[in-house]
Parts: sequence; C-alpha cells; structure tokens
Amino acid sequence: MITTKQVIEKAETFGANNYCPTKVVFSKAEGVWVTDPEDNIYMDMLSAYSAISHGHRHPKIIKAAKDQMDKVTLTSRAFHNELLGEFYEKLSSLTGKNMILPMNTGSEAVETALKAARRWAVDVKGVEDGKQEIIACKGNFHGRTLSIISMSSEPAYSRGYGPLTPGFKLIDYGNIEQLKKSITKNTAAFIMEPIQGEGGIIIPPENFMSEAKKICDENNVLLIADEVQTGLARTGKMFASELFGVEPDMYILGKALGGGVFPVSAVAADKSILGVFNPGSHGSTFGGNPLGCAIAIEAMNIIVEDNYADMAKEKGEYFMNRLREINNPKIVEVRGYGLLIGMEFNHNVEKLCDELKDVGVLAYETHETVIRFAPPIIITKDEIDWAMERIEKVLGK
Ligand SMILES: *Cc1c(COP(=O)(O)O)cnc(C)c1O
Repeated sequence: MITTKQVIEKAETFGANNYCPTKVVFSKAEGVWVTDPEDNIYMDMLSAYSAISHGHRHPKIIKAAKDQMDKVTLTSRAFHNELLGEFYEKLSSLTGKNMILPMNTGSEAVETALKAARRWAVDVKGVEDGKQEIIACKGNFHGRTLSIISMSSEPAYSRGYGPLTPGFKLIDYGNIEQLKKSITKNTAAFIMEPIQGEGGIIIPPENFMSEAKKICDENNVLLIADEVQTGLARTGKMFASELFGVEPDMYILGKALGGGVFPVSAVAADKSILGVFNPGSHGSTFGGNPLGCAIAIEAMNIIVEDNYADMAKEKGEYFMNRLREINNPKIVEVRGYGLLIGMEFNHNVEKLCDELKDVGVLAYETHETVIRFAPPIIITKDEIDWAMERIEKVLGK
C-alpha cells in the first residue's frame, strides 16, 4: 500500500515546482467526500475551483463516459461525430447564443474569445488588423497562456515570460469611468469575470456590469463574460451575468462543463461574432471530441433537470449565513453568491487552511487573505452542518 508520504515524495522529486499543494492525497472520491491512502476522510470544499460542481464521480456522468468509451472517443475535427451537434444545441439553448465553438481547457476558450473579438473588430467593425485593442480588469484571472497572462496585473503570473502580447489595456475592476476613458475606435472587446474568482471572490459594484454592457453597446465593443468559474449554476443563476441583469455578447465556459471528469470548454456567441471563423482559422485536435461531448451533454442535462441554480442559491444562503455567525474579530468579510463564497481575514490564511484540513475540511486560500468555500453544488444541508461543526472549531465560535 502506497502512503501519503511516498506519493508526495515522488511528486516532489520529479514534478516541476509550479504548484504548492496542501499535503493531502486523493485516493478515492465520491460526491463531496474524499479518501486518502490512509483511509482518512475529508470534505472537498474547493471542488477543483468549481470544476466538481456535480460532486466527484456523479454516477450519471460516469455512466455517460463509460458508454461513450465503448463506442468512439476521438475523431478529430477532420471527421464528424454523432454528439457534437447535440452538444452545440444544448449549450446554445442554455446560453441563448446561436453559435458554439468547442475547446478543452478554460484558457483555450479564453484564447478563442480573444481571437474572435480581434477578427470581428477587423472584419465587422473595420479596425485595421494589428491595431485591435482589448480591455481587461486588474485582478483578473483568465488562465495561463502567454496572451492571457499579457492582460494580467499579477506580477507572479508574468515575470520572466516577456515579450508579452500587446493590445491589452487594464482598468480597475468595477470602475465604469475608466472603462469609458479606455475605449477608442480600435477597441474590439471588454473582457471581465462577473465575479472575480481567483482574484479573491471580488463582487463588483451592483450596476457595474450592466453599465459596462451599455457603454460597450454604445461604442460597438463586445462584452465578453468569462464564466469559466462562475457559470453553470455556481452562483445561484445559470450564469453569474444574470445576477446583474446582463446578457453578454460572448460567454466563455469551462470547468463544470466537463462534469469533473474531462476538460471541456467552449465559447458561445451569435453568428454575427463567431461567424468570423472559417476553416483553417482556428482549431483543436481534441476540441469537440465525442467523449467530451457525451460527458458535457450529461453534465448540462443534470444541471438543468436537478435545478442546480436553485440548489446553489439555497445551500449557499444557508452556508453563508452560518459562516457569518462565526464570531472572530480577524474576519473582515464573508461574501459571495450561491456556493462561491469568500471569507476574508486581516491576515494570511494559509495556516488556517492547514488547520481546516487537519479536522477534515479541504478549503483553499485565494489571494492570501481569503478562504474560498466552493463545495460541490450537490452538497446537502447535513453535510454543511458536518463542515460547520469543524469550521467553527478552527475559526472560533
Ligand atoms: C480557471 C479559470 C480559467 C482557466 O481555465 P483552465 O481550464 O485552468 O485553463 C479561465 N477563467 C476563469 C475565470 C477561471 O476561473
């Protein structure tokens, strides 16, 4: 039997050092529960940054995956597969957009949206190729590729990786005046997260997104909502943009779209935008593969049929209220929507997260001072109570 210590030693011997994981090994997992090699049990309150919204190994998703594995798993886009059309149709009906482009990781979908916006600016808006500008927000997290980190304000993400991709401008998240001032005739798009996830569960001013949409419309600029983390019911609505009454021009989706099993991402927009792609202009070997489609179709079906949005809203309110009752002067704020909750402290929370792990609750820090609580959406009230008993022990009552 392999031990936690052996697993971690081997990983640290051969692995590049670009992560610093909590010292817990997942051997088995089901629903909200995780078991380590020594048979200790933990509750997963991170859900792989929202990718495990359905819980670990949702039986219907595992069945869809196994069934598809017995048929065909990969065709490449050189050929058709039976499920891609159904995947498009399903995601189109969820987003209300009539064109879908499938990729694998969230970063690839963000890259796809940036390319679409730049080409749209040239072909539709009439901007000279090479002059296109895209506006993003400070504190954003859109992924890790070279172009994406070129619009990041976080020095750790980009140090030593230059030369960076030009054509990006940054504004303060939530500052509508700066957005207005940053727009020029060459602006293709404004990209934002409706709630900043990695940035620390930051909620913008109530009317920011709707004002941004209005200004974008007035200036013929596309509003791109990166809903890789906030989308698909996590915040209590199918898309967090709905919290602010906004229908963006483009949705970027990922994480939970793959049902916690497989990387599946996509961009959804109308034909007037995504129609700028023609054969040869963009692609992905695995994007739209039948195994991913089978999994994503089932993942979307479950989200709709089981009404994950209401589940996240209801459980989120209960959980957040319980967290707010904790009496600890070092807590600055508990904030969030649905089951995307941040608890901000006036100090670094790394040690607290370790202590939570020791009592069986796996929560991860974001932005040093914030503990993120984002359990699977299937979490029950009893399971939240189980967690609260332990959270109260560590965070004080
Ligand atoms: C996680 C995330 C991404 C990147 O997704 P990957 O699958 O890690 O490439 C992009 N945008 C947001 C908002 C995210 O949370």
